[in-house]
Formats: sequence, C-alpha cells, structure tokens
Amino acid sequence: MKLFNTLTQRVETFVPLEGNNVRIYVCGVTPYDTTHLGHAFTYASFDTLIRYLEFRGYSVRYVQNVTDIDDDILRKARELGVPWDELGRRETERFLRDMDALNVRRPTFYVRATDEIPHIIEIVQQLIERGYAYVSDGCVYYDVRHDPDFGVLGRAIGLNDYNAMLAVANERGNYPDDRRKRDPLDFVLWQAQAPGEPAWPSPWGPGRPGWHIECSAMALHYLGEQLDIHGGGADLAFPHHTCEIAQSEHYTGKAPFVRYWLHTGMVYQQGEKMSKSLGNLTLVSDLLKQYSANAIRLLLLNHHYRQPWECFPADLQLASRQAALFEEVAALAAGCPAETTESSSELRAHFESLLDDDLKTPEAVQLLQETGQAALASHDVCLASDVARLLRVLGLRY
Ligand SMILES: [Zn+2]
Repeated sequence: MKLFNTLTQRVETFVPLEGNNVRIYVCGVTPYDTTHLGHAFTYASFDTLIRYLEFRGYSVRYVQNVTDIDDDILRKARELGVPWDELGRRETERFLRDMDALNVRRPTFYVRATDEIPHIIEIVQQLIERGYAYVSDGCVYYDVRHDPDFGVLGRAIGLNDYNAMLAVANERGNYPDDRRKRDPLDFVLWQAQAPGEPAWPSPWGPGRPGWHIECSAMALHYLGEQLDIHGGGADLAFPHHTCEIAQSEHYTGKAPFVRYWLHTGMVYQQGEKMSKSLGNLTLVSDLLKQYSANAIRLLLLNHHYRQPWECFPADLQLASRQAALFEEVAALAAGCPAETTESSSELRAHFESLLDDDLKTPEAVQLLQETGQAALASHDVCLASDVARLLRVLGLRY
C-alpha cells in the first residue's frame, strides 16, 4: 500500500515498524460544540483507512485524544453557565453519537487530557532537565531557540522560515505576544492557573497542560516511542504536529516520532473553511435528519481524504442516489446462497489497486457503483454479494 507522507511530500510504500502491527494516532476533538462535516470527514477518512488496513490483514492499535480542558471549553462553559467538565462530557457524548451514526468505529484507546496529567508532567520535567524547556512565572515553555531541528513539518508544508511560521502561529492562537516567553514561537507545555480556572498540582505550581503536549503524552503512553501513522486535519500540521515532533523526539531521544504523517483536507462552506469560530457549520446531526447515514458516508467517500472540498447540494443528491442503488444491490445480494463465496478475484484486485494507491475512495465507490449496476442489470446475485462485501470494507452498512 502507498500513502502520501506530509513530511516528505511524497507517496511512499507503507511498511509498519513491526510486522503486521500498525500503530496509529489521530488528534481528537475539543468537546465544546457540535460536530460538523469537517470533523466527520477527518474521522470517517481515518476510519476507512483503518478498516482497509484490517481488510489487508494488518492488526491496528488506534489512539485518539479528547482535549477536555482548554481555553475554548472554559470560555464556552462560562457563557453557558455550566461546569466545564460537565460541558466536556456532554459534548464528547454528542460527538460519539454522531460518529456512531456514521459507522465510525471508536479507537482502541479514547483518552481524556485530564486523565493523562501525570505523564504530561513527567515529559515536561524531562524536557526542562535536557534544556529544551524553561519555567517562567508558573508556566513552562518549549524553547525553540534551543532546538535547531524545530519546524521540520512546518517547512515541509511550505513554511520555509521563522517569519512564515510565526505568521501562522499568530493566526492559530499560539499567543506570540505572551511576555513570559523568550521567543514568540515558544509554545506552552504547562499553563499556570488563572484566577477561577481549574488546576492540577505540578512541580511548577498549580496549572493545566498545554494542548500540544497532551497528544505526545498519549501517543507515547499508549503506542510507544515511535508510531507508524499520525493523522489529523491539514490545519494541524503546523503548529500542532510540528510541536508534537519536537517535544516527543527530544523526550525519547528517538527519531522519527512518526513514520507517516497523514492530513485530511479542509471542508469549506461558501469559500471559507468550516469552523466553529466562523460559525459557518454544516452539522452532522442536521444532515442525519435529512439523509441516511450511508448517504452521508458516501458523500465523504466521494472526496479523496487529502482533497479540500465544499459541500454542495448536488453532491448530497448524488450520494443519496448512490445509497439507493447500493440498497438495491444489497437486497439482490441477500439471494446469494452462502457466505462462503469469496469476492470475485477480478473485482477485489481492482478495488485493492485503487485503495492501495493512497486510499483512492472516490474511484473505489465509482467501481462498486458500476459493478453494482451491472449486477442489477444481469440479476447476478453473487456479484451483488461481492459488491456489498466491499461496501462494508468502506464502512457502509449494507
Ligand atoms: Zn493532537
């Protein structure tokens, strides 16, 4: 199988570090608001990748985090007048409900940031001892000037110098004007308690973990020092994943932290990135009132995982028609005598060649659509059964 690696900007042959075992980490949500189509695209894309890896005989160990404490959660909880932890729990449940509806399977380990604090403290302590981090006014920052390698993933996506990285960090709320930092690009590993905010004890005083360190701590804890695949939305490559590489590799002394970096394209709405802060959201829960889960999953599969896209009504209508066609194919397949039949080797080989090529799901759906139409036209129950079996590999419920 071949996958596009953001770090090398090349399509590479996928070889796991350890036999048939694949270790994968995907950045999870900050549960303070509802799930939109952009989230669904990221998690359904990785779910499809994992289902396909399993279909190809790999054994997958998959970790995802829940950022259950951060500025957005605290702000939203204040606005709503509810406890921050209650808001986090409620929104996590809503997220999982939406993902369950779309047949996105849950990770092997689904870990909350607040459950990882001892490991986070231990990593921060080590980074300080090795000179990669410093304490300032109850906060701990990563010292980018001490790390000549800093920014490798940022450079891979075209942020070629310090100023280019600083501009993006500025945009993404990395607090470059925080006066406690030595350098505007330094990022917070441990944040000192602000009045009225929840805090955990630490060697540097009460506070809470920064966002980037949470993912390193969970990945290292549940998957080991080196991962096969790390994924997330394209907007996480810098600064989030770039910071994860720096702190993880200087903590473990092992590089690379991740062999294959995979990023999903952004979903747009009227030309703008779909995001909570812009308020231009297509909610999964709203779509589910109008369209079947299979139709929504088909809408997602009809876009290659790396492709940025915008959701147009015509695309939803196309996905609905495909869902209806596959319904008929599945009904015909029910007449296939035994579950003993293997997929026709020609169909299966073609399907695999498309997915082996950096997970070309739009072409795979197209293939199954054409084969499904042919099965219906010739009333070929076993061909219909082959199609239904491969639809299930893509996470569709048929
Ligand atoms: Zn992350």
